[in-house]
Amino acid sequence: MDDCIFCKIVGGAIPAEKVYEDGQTLAFLDIRPTNPGHTLVIPKAHYRNVFDIPLDVWGAVMQTVHRLAPAIITATGAGGLNINTNNDEAANQLVFHSHVHLIPRFTGDGHQPWGGTPYAPGEAATLAEKIKNAQD
Ligand code: 5GP
Ligand code: ZN
Repeated sequence: MDDCIFCKIVGGAIPAEKVYEDGQTLAFLDIRPTNPGHTLVIPKAHYRNVFDIPLDVWGAVMQTVHRLAPAIITATGAGGLNINTNNDEAANQLVFHSHVHLIPRFTGDGHQPWGGTPYAPGEAATLAEKIKNAQD
C-alpha cells in the first residue's frame, strides 16, 4: 500500500532496525519503545489488523513472535515480556498495517497497561455467553 509506513519499511523505502525476516514476516525495533528492545512483528503483505488478516498469515506472524520472545529476553535481560496488538482506533491502533508488539518488561518499570474494575455479580457470565455465541 503506497501510503503505509510499514509497507515502506518492508520495501526498504524507510529504514528500520530489523531483527528478523523470512518469506512472510518482518520484525524490527519500535521507533518509540516502551522499553528498549520493544519489537514489532508484521506480515510483509498489507493487512489492516486482526479483522482482515488470513489465519495462515497470522500463524506465520505468531511463529516469528514465538521465535523472538526468548531472544528479546536474552538480549535485554528483561524479567518478562508483553505481547500485544492494537486493533482499530478505539484500541489505540495508530499504524494500520497489522503488527504485534513484543515489549520487554522489568520489575518496577512503572508501565501499568492492565488492571481494571471487577465485574458486577452475573455480568461476567452474561458477557462470556455472548462471546461464545458470537463465534463462527
Ligand atoms: P499501534 O498503536 O498502531 O499499535 O503502534 C504503532 C507503533 O509503531 C508505535 O509504537 C510507534 O512507535 C511505531 N512506529 C510508528 N512509525 C514507525 C516507524 O516509522 N518506524 C518504526 N520502527 N516504528 C514506528
Ligand atoms: Zn502496509
